[in-house]
Amino acid sequence: MRKGLLVVLSGPSGTGKTTICHELIKQIPRTAFSISATTRTRRPGEQDGVDYYFLSRKEFHHKIKRGEFLEWAQVYDHYYGTPKKQVLANLSQGVNVLLDIDMQGALNIKKCFPGALLIFILPPSLEILRQRLINRKKDSVTVINRRMKQIEKELKYIPRYDLLVINDDLKRTVKSIREKIINTN
Ligand code: 5GP
Repeated sequence: MRKGLLVVLSGPSGTGKTTICHELIKQIPRTAFSISATTRTRRPGEQDGVDYYFLSRKEFHHKIKRGEFLEWAQVYDHYYGTPKKQVLANLSQGVNVLLDIDMQGALNIKKCFPGALLIFILPPSLEILRQRLINRKKDSVTVINRRMKQIEKELKYIPRYDLLVINDDLKRTVKSIREKIINTN
């Protein structure tokens, strides 16, 4: 059976990655989202086992030791990791898997899975992004400022991605990613 495609979506939070993933799953048959594990605390509205698996640091480190992550990284002050088992099972059954992970994770995935498709999503401007993060009221100004600095550092790695999309129109963004996935498959 043909294997599924591993698709990595990276980009600053607030660029609409979650909505884009939901749309892609609706629009592309046999496509699943990989739920990551994290040690960060839940934001309002987030559900365990839906948005993330929320773990203690101890639990997370056990999983690292047992080799249960496909990749993991420290992002800001927290750990994030992609659970291996479900992703590999999906790929071997011909199901495409979407990963919403940071740049370190994306580059690690590309090393182990050279066939993975790496997509970077940018907001129309960094100022618009800052405003979106402030408006959604989920993070403090200090956290937002740190994230903005980190984003500026990450921009230089964009050429290592297979596709760069500027999300100024959700429909257009989803269409271009969907076409890329279908043509790569
Ligand atoms: P947030 O805390 O805003 O949900 O996510 C912060 C960052 O961590 C985002 O860039 C997100 O893509 C990244 N991230 C989420 N899950 C994973 C993961 O499993 N591995 C890696 N490397 N990064 C992740």
